Amino acid sequence: MKLEPKLSFDHLQKEVIDKGTCGRCGGCVSFCTANRIGALEIGEDGFPQYKKEAECLECGLCYLICPQTIDLNDTLKDEFRWKAPIGHVEDLYSIRATSNKIQEVATDGGLVTALLVHMLKNNFIDGAVVSKRDGLFNRKSVVATTSEELLEAAGSTFSEALHLNKMGTEYTSCAPVVQTIHEYSKNRKKLNKLAVVGTPCQIDAVRKMQVLNILPSDIIKFTIGLFCMQCFSMERLIDSRFLEIHDINLQNIKKMNVKEDFYLHMKTGEVIHIPLEEVESIARPACLACKRFSNDFADISVGGLGSPEGYTTVLVRTIDGKRMIANALSDGGIQKFESEKEKMLSLVNKFAEKKMKRGIATLKKLDIN
Ligand SMILES: Cc1cc2nc3c(=O)[nH]c(=O)nc-3n(C[C@H](O)[C@H](O)[C@H](O)COP(=O)(O)OP(=O)(O)OC[C@H]3O[C@@H](n4cnc5c(N)ncnc54)[C@H](O)[C@@H]3O)c2cc1C
Ligand code: SF4
Ligand code: SF4
Ligand code: SF4
Repeated sequence: MKLEPKLSFDHLQKEVIDKGTCGRCGGCVSFCTANRIGALEIGEDGFPQYKKEAECLECGLCYLICPQTIDLNDTLKDEFRWKAPIGHVEDLYSIRATSNKIQEVATDGGLVTALLVHMLKNNFIDGAVVSKRDGLFNRKSVVATTSEELLEAAGSTFSEALHLNKMGTEYTSCAPVVQTIHEYSKNRKKLNKLAVVGTPCQIDAVRKMQVLNILPSDIIKFTIGLFCMQCFSMERLIDSRFLEIHDINLQNIKKMNVKEDFYLHMKTGEVIHIPLEEVESIARPACLACKRFSNDFADISVGGLGSPEGYTTVLVRTIDGKRMIANALSDGGIQKFESEKEKMLSLVNKFAEKKMKRGIATLKKLDIN
């Protein structure tokens, strides 16, 4: 009988990191560290690397939970009743926060922040992994345990920071959410019910850990998945002359959001529309090889796409998702807009298919199936 070689981080290095598809979610390092193996660390460039190679047990779990590997994809699809192109949808809505304070700072309707505030207030969770602006472009993953902290992390905006040219490859608009779950889990005696907000790659890593029943995923009780076309790379922003071409002064940006196009809301009141194809020039290379858009394995998936201005599109995926939305609606923290569900659904399908095609084409170029 021929023995299969054991899986280890070497396989991740070769098949994911070296090929340029690592989304730096931190999942592999979190698992290895949370289980006190300690073979891995996040390097200065934000990518995982060996810390002590000799400690590696060749358990292969870092490989299995990586969102960029495929071994557990069918298990996830079965578990979440997945069907093409955007997975199982129980129901869908356009929703906004009723609080003006939240609406003012939110990316779209503030549903994410309002729902988390509701869950915290009613003790469904002890905290939530969200991501706070950190400097000009970067987002820092944090655990918010108060309504004020949730409000601080709402939205997606650029800050006033200046030192563009000092920022290296480690700066992206994506936050290492899974790594933060691990750090938080050290406090598990006090706090052990967590919600997580994340992009599809991050939520997939969490779900793979849950399928394998491994630490630190047991403390995650609710997942809010963001739609995602791409994260941005500071390095590419500088190299591509994107700001110059579109005549954008970073200091004047009030807020940004993504629907059919990329929108920049300026402090002057002007709104700049940039077609998504043009935004690809500043996307992280790993994101161009990614096929996920609609966060198919989260409890609820959310985006701006498909809803009127000031509302968030919500796809309810699970029974927990359904209960939580119903609960917050009856509590009054959020409100629905009577939207055309078929129209919303077909728009989300269209973007999911668009992203799938782009991912397949990029992977083909990289010679990855
Ligand atoms: C990288 C990225 C790409 C996206 N692409 C699309 C898209 O193509 N189409 C679309 O319709 N919607 C997209 N979205 C989702 C959309 O921008 C809104 O986040 C979503 O509609 C929720 O809006 P809200 O007003 O309800 O959220 P808010 O109440 O404003 O809360 C937003 C929450 O997201 C968290 N967050 C912000 N940035 C990140 C990040 N980088 N990683 C993890 N969490 C984060 C914040 O901490 C906050 O908790 C994207 C979001 C991100 C972060
Ligand atoms: S011990 Fe397991 S999780 Fe850690 S690096 Fe080795 S194979 Fe990966
Ligand atoms: S688990 Fe995340 S950080 Fe680790 S190799 Fe995969 S994508 Fe990169
Ligand atoms: S496109 Fe979004 S889901 Fe895909 S790797 Fe990038 S951040 Fe993750």
